[in-house]
Amino acid sequence: MRAEKAYIFLNYGYNKKLNKKLTVLLKNSKIEIFVKPVNAGYIGGEESAILNAIEGKRIEPRLKPPFPTSKGLFGYPTLINNVETFYNVSLVAAGQYLNKRFYTITGDCLNEGVYELPDNLTIEKLLKQTGNYPKFSFFVQVGGNASGEVLSSSQLKRQVSGAGSIAVYSLAKNNFKKIIKGWLNFFVNESCGQCAPCREGTYRLNEIFSKEKIDWPLFNGLLDNLSDASLCALGCSVAVPIKSFMKNVYPQINKSAENLQI
Ligand code: SF4
Repeated sequence: MRAEKAYIFLNYGYNKKLNKKLTVLLKNSKIEIFVKPVNAGYIGGEESAILNAIEGKRIEPRLKPPFPTSKGLFGYPTLINNVETFYNVSLVAAGQYLNKRFYTITGDCLNEGVYELPDNLTIEKLLKQTGNYPKFSFFVQVGGNASGEVLSSSQLKRQVSGAGSIAVYSLAKNNFKKIIKGWLNFFVNESCGQCAPCREGTYRLNEIFSKEKIDWPLFNGLLDNLSDASLCALGCSVAVPIKSFMKNVYPQINKSAENLQI
């Protein structure tokens, strides 16, 4: 194993689509394609879990520090970024970078899709410029469809930070319990099981939330535990969508929300 080797980590679908083209482009280079194992799940895209996958180890996040830049693939300092970052670096190197980034807009909107637009647009402008600003009451989730922050329609004069995703939800069409249950199911299913706070915590949260009478103080305390004690960002972010939804949106749909103490 030589330190200057590089890998392109591709999921199965992209590999199927791009393998032939990439193989031609990578001929005579030290870059190899590594296809994400089918059982790697969501967490298989986390940077240190990717390193484990390439090394043939169990696919789960590593405790950090050390960070990949000091001790990464096979113990070597490793630069690991997503393809959008490398694409932007190539534009900067060619003097063609125009301060744009990619945004994914999904959900209850007319023109779902991926857009390349200026990186300083507010969420409101992004929805308007893409013809996705709803005529009905709505809220959005930004930065990830399970772990992203939830904002009401009056909080859209800010930029998207982190992952450039915006999911639009119609207030009339969606049931808040179903939405939270969907997030919890996602975290239960995608927890890699390595650390107890996330493995047990997501299971218990789902269990508490499934009961007719929800023990909110216990639920809320568990959310805090997950944020404080989980080993990686997946467990740490379980509280983000739920707490931001309860704070920013739930009061609009239930005037007794303050009684929930969450
Ligand atoms: S927080 Fe969850 S996903 Fe992350 S290492 Fe712990 S169990 Fe795995």
